[in-house]
Amino acid sequence: MRQFDGKTAVVTGGSSGIGLATAERLAAEGAHVFITGRRELELEKAVAAIGNATAVPGDVSLAADVDRLYERVGERGQGLDVLFASAGINFLATLDELTEEDHDRIFDINVKGTFLTVQKALPLLNDGASVILTASTAAESGDESFGAYGASKAAVRAYGRTWANELSGRGIRVNVISPGPIDTPLFPAVFGGRADEMKTAIGAGLPAKRVGDPDELASAVVFLASSQSSFVYGANLYVDGGMNQI
Ligand code: NAD
Repeated sequence: MRQFDGKTAVVTGGSSGIGLATAERLAAEGAHVFITGRRELELEKAVAAIGNATAVPGDVSLAADVDRLYERVGERGQGLDVLFASAGINFLATLDELTEEDHDRIFDINVKGTFLTVQKALPLLNDGASVILTASTAAESGDESFGAYGASKAAVRAYGRTWANELSGRGIRVNVISPGPIDTPLFPAVFGGRADEMKTAIGAGLPAKRVGDPDELASAVVFLASSQSSFVYGANLYVDGGMNQI
């Protein structure tokens, strides 16, 4: 018996990076995994890699798209046991560079997207379900140009505390993971042609002496998703190679 046999999972941003690695692990452990993301071609490729999965294209910042995702999950008729909100974006901008449009975009996807993802799942979440939100070390680090991103992730962490409290009566656990630098397509998206140089430089400054692998994040999410973490509520689990711990 695998630990997620017969379970249903949703992974937003499940076509790439941390979301994809986690979707693969949940499916390998028996779950049927619904993934969502904006790019249909990437979603199709991800479904082929994951195996036991259904792709529902959509943007987490749009209520109608999130409704469509959960309509599909509902049609399966087994509720929802694991919800991993991984979809998110980042870009670099100092306070004087940040535009109103970019500020809204990062909060729409990272904060409103997380809110819609969890609120609209409420009717489907089974007793004993596990919800995992994705924050970041940037919520606390104060690194230059990470202001809007860090603020959005601090909001996600705050939501995690309140929702852990509010949903505990239904036996639903809510926890947060805070990744440090992880080798995903987010690196080139943020640092462009300097991505490899930045991975080496940032990695060298960590106790781990390297950046993380998406599968190392997936291990932490699988722990929080499973009964192995049955007494863990409202936690913020850093998976950061020690970045924010020293
Ligand atoms: P990634 O770019 O590989 O994956 C992000 C996923 O989110 C992609 O599948 C993308 O299509 C999806 N996505 C983006 N906007 C979306 C939207 N509006 N609607 C639906 N899907 C959307 O990046 P990743 O590194 O795997 O990031 C996953 C999460 O981890 C993000 O929330 C990110 O902020 C967080 N994080 C990453 C790192 C890191 O170093 N990689 C560090 C800290 C936190």
